[in-house]
Parts: sequence; structure tokens; C-alpha cells
Amino acid sequence: MSDTVSDDRNGQNGPPDSPRGLRRELEHYRLVVEEMRRRIRSLEDELEAASTMAEVPSVVVTRPELRNTLGRLVKKVAMIIQAEKVLLLLHQPDTGSLDVLPPALGITEEQANAINIHADEGVSGWVFQNRESVVFNDALNDPRTLKHLVSLLAVRNGVCVPLVIKQRDEEERLVDERVIGVMHVFNKRFDEDFGNEDMRLLEMLAEQAAAVISNAQLYIQLTEAKEELEDAFESIHVGVIVVNREGVIRLLNPAAAGMLELRDGDYSGQAMCDALPPGQVRDLIEVTLDTGEERTVEISMGDDRRVYQAQTTLMKREDEGGVESVVAIFNDITEIRRVERMKTAFVSTVSHELRTPLTSIKGFISTLLEDDEGMYDEETRREFLIIINEECDRLTRLISDLLNISKIESGRGLELQLSDVDVGQLIRRVAANHQPYTKKHEIVAEASDDLEPIRADADKLTQILDNLVGNAVKYSPNGGTVRIVATNEDGTVRLDVIDQGLGIPERHREHIFQRFHQVDDDIDHRSISGTGIGLYLVQHLAHAHGGKVWLESSEVGEGSTFSLRLPKDPEKVIEQRAD
Ligand code: ADP
Repeated sequence: MSDTVSDDRNGQNGPPDSPRGLRRELEHYRLVVEEMRRRIRSLEDELEAASTMAEVPSVVVTRPELRNTLGRLVKKVAMIIQAEKVLLLLHQPDTGSLDVLPPALGITEEQANAINIHADEGVSGWVFQNRESVVFNDALNDPRTLKHLVSLLAVRNGVCVPLVIKQRDEEERLVDERVIGVMHVFNKRFDEDFGNEDMRLLEMLAEQAAAVISNAQLYIQLTEAKEELEDAFESIHVGVIVVNREGVIRLLNPAAAGMLELRDGDYSGQAMCDALPPGQVRDLIEVTLDTGEERTVEISMGDDRRVYQAQTTLMKREDEGGVESVVAIFNDITEIRRVERMKTAFVSTVSHELRTPLTSIKGFISTLLEDDEGMYDEETRREFLIIINEECDRLTRLISDLLNISKIESGRGLELQLSDVDVGQLIRRVAANHQPYTKKHEIVAEASDDLEPIRADADKLTQILDNLVGNAVKYSPNGGTVRIVATNEDGTVRLDVIDQGLGIPERHREHIFQRFHQVDDDIDHRSISGTGIGLYLVQHLAHAHGGKVWLESSEVGEGSTFSLRLPKDPEKVIEQRAD
């Protein structure tokens, strides 16, 4: 104190007991008291600053936590420095700007949103580039300040310090320094000016703030990346199990739990032999751990015998090279195997379907050729020729279906030859073509009077109806009426093919448009030959026309109705689809 306030009680200004001397003495003590107050205030501030930092949690792991911590921090800064406003700006390396890191104190959200500072402009830019603090007490006239911000935030004066992250080694020696942004305080309270003391304090606070921000950002990035990974594991359909070399589960995602019919829950930390039921999965992981060899096997599980391709991968320790854990991945390939089985069955079905008409054609032709003696009368010979003709038609239809399927499978579209088609005429022709092949059925075509021509590929439309009507006849072994009904519906043409046949068991209804699908578990259906590609093809042909086909209704033993809706102009619909 004696350094700061001079003691002149015994000076030349008169004896101490005179009134002048007393006044002087009083003045002296007033100054001493004031100095003491100042020192106390400054010590209190330092204490405050230290406790502020002690309050800052060492690990901030979420964005709201960071916001809360910074909220407390800027309040304390304002209190300690006696400033009206506090603003944190973070450098964005990708845009080169200094962006507001909320929450700012004494600054509205609207004002904060309007702040747009590049890292090389204004006081903030200078402080950021030069890593040096700045005090300015006449914001309006100071050439360094950005005037639009001065007026936006009504700044009178301020201090700006860099936010520096300092990296130190074990002996607290500085090894690296990085500036991540700046901290501003504006408008010293009680109309005072900011001084170097404020700057020194703010630098101290800023160092702590920078550490909090950078640690938090690291943690946040880490936790968010971890959460993203966990979400991905949670949602993928592939089963994933990770087991460490002590046999403890590190991860078991819901798909794996479902596959093993385990209850939903967190299995990490549990011993594999307690958590997983004995069986192929446990064996596979154990063998991989024991032998240190990665494996790929096929396993089937569950009551419905789903098939999985299981693959184990070893994660090794970087230092020792030993096995750290096993990652087992389970891919459900039931559907792939099913289609493969169906494909194999399809090849033999098609061979059979081709051979049957060929055998019959060859049989009748040989019979006719061998009939040198004219055993068969004219009428019988004609019947033979009709059968040959029908079988040829059957072959042609089958081959045409196969060709179209191969086009679809190879990704080549079904090209349409569009023309104006009179649907009424077309369905009458289809009915007339099918009638000669059956005596048990009556095939009728009913077209409403207001039917207008539509743009369609007449051959492909015929192919659709040939399949639907062919099925209607085929799957009505006891005969009945097959109706083909064409009507206008909401600017489209609707076609219904209605039969009184076997109907389709409910469990098959949603699958019958899938390729190779056949009702193979029903004796009546099984006794009727087919390839399982007809409806699949019909669906593709309808789609190529911008239309749709569906099973409208079906009752076992009472019949089925297949419906088809076609737009009047497929080109328009297909264009819209492409958009
Ligand atoms: P398929 O060559 O076997 O007839 P489709 O793809 O045309 O192949 O039909 C698939 C399956 O749907 C058929 O195997 C049959 O069981 C059933 N199905 C199709 N149409 C009818 C129908 N009108 N009535 C009953 N079952 C049908």
C-alpha cells in the first residue's frame, strides 16, 4: 500500500494536529481505504474466476450440456469484468468465418443471427489472426471496429481476447497452441472504460473457456459418432455379435437377438455362454476364438428354419497381434435360397411343359404319317390336326412367356408397340380363341357400351389376357363360366377376369405374382401343370403399360377374380412416373 499511496503526514503541509493537517490525514486514510477496497475487489474477482472454472464440469458430453456450461461461464465473465454483453465467436475452417457460439449474453438471438464476421475483419479478425488481445474504449471512432456491428450491438467499448487451446506436456511445458476463436466483452458497466486489468482477467477466463469448448467438441464428436454407429447396428437387418477373447459379449444387435429368439435387451458385458443358447452360433464363435481362424458357414435356425450365411472376422490387438475379439455377422439368405430352389424346380417344370406338347404333337403326326391304309376317317384326322394346332399354340405361348421373362430378368425393358386398341374387340377375340380348347367352360366377353379405344400394345395386352383367361380355365377343373369384363373407371379401363374355379388359399394370395410361385401345397393345384411365371409376367406387362394388376377376390372352392387397370395413355403415366 505504501508503494501506491504516499505518506506525507509529516510533510511540509502543516502540523498534523492543525485542521489542515487533519484534513490531509483524513484524505490519506480515504485513499488507503479505497486502495484496500480495490485490492479486495480484485482478489475477490480472482477467487470468483477460479471458482467459476472449478464449477465447469471437466467432461461436457452433449450439446445441451455445453450450452448450459457456456451459459454459466458467460454470466460469470460478465459479472467479473463488469460487462453488459459477452460474445463467443468460433472459427469455422471450412467457411473461414467467425460464428457465434451460443449462448451470448446481453445479445438477442436475432442480433446473434445477424452477426457475420470473416476471420480477417474487424477487431475479432485481428485478434484471431494475431493471437493478441485488444481493448477499445471508443468503439464508434476506433478504426479497427466494424461499424455495422457496433451499431447492431450498441457497443461503446470492449475487450476482445483470443480463445487459445494450449497443449502442455507432463511437466506443464507448452507444446502446442491453437486459436479456435475469440471472446468479446462489450460495454463496461457504470460508464467506465475497460483497462488492462480487465484484459488480463478475460485472457485467463478465455483460456479456461477454450479448454472447455475444445474438450466438449471432441467428446461431442466422439459420442455422436458412437451413437451413430450404435443406431446403425440397431437398425440394420444383418445380425452382428461381437465377443471378446474372454468370451464376453461386447455387442449384440436387435437383428441378432431376433435371430436367436432372445428377449430384447442389452447383452453387452454378459458372458456369451450365459447369454446365448447352445447351438451353431455359439459353436461358431467359440471355434473362431479357439482356432484364430475366420470362417464362413451356412446355418439354419428357428422354427421356420431360416437360413443364414454366418461369417466370423477376427479383430487383433495392434501391439501383440493376438485375438482381441470376434465379430460374427449373420445374413438372412432364406429368400435367396428359396428363389434358387424355385429356379431349379422351374428348369425341370419348363422342360416338362415343353416336352408334353411336343410329345403329343409328335405322337399325332406319327400316327397320321403311319396311317397308310386310311384307318382314320376325315373327321378323326381333322381332330388330330386340331390337337396338333392347339399344342403348337400352347408351345408358342410358353416360349413367348419365357422370352419376355428373360428380357425382364436381364434388365431390358419390355418395349411397347403402341396403337389405338379397341378393348371390347380384343376381349371378344381372346374369349373366342380360348373357347375351342374347352368344352367344360363357357367363356364370355362383356364390354360396357361407353368403352373408348386406349393406347396399348395389342400383342402384349393379348398376352396378359391369355395368361389370366388361361389360368381361369386351367384352375377351374370342374368347368364353369369365365367372364372377361371391360368397363370405364375413373378415366381408366378396368378389366376383370372372373372364374368359378378352385380359388387360391389365403396364405398364397400375397405371393402369387412373385416369379415361380405356385400353390404347391394343395393337391388340386398341384395336379395342374404350370411354370409359375404367368402372373409374374402379367404384372410386368401391366406395369409397362403404366397400369396395375391385382387379385381382387378369391374364395377356395368358389373362384377368383383377377383385375387389371390400364390408363388410356400409358406414355403420360410412364412420363409422370419418371418425374
Ligand atoms: P402357373 O404357370 O403355375 O399357372 P402363374 O404365375 O400363372 O403360374 O400362377 C401362379 C399360381 O397361382 C398358380 O400356380 C396357381 O396355383 C395360382 N393361380 C393363378 N391363377 C389362378 C386362378 N384363376 N385360380 C386359382 N389359382 C390360380
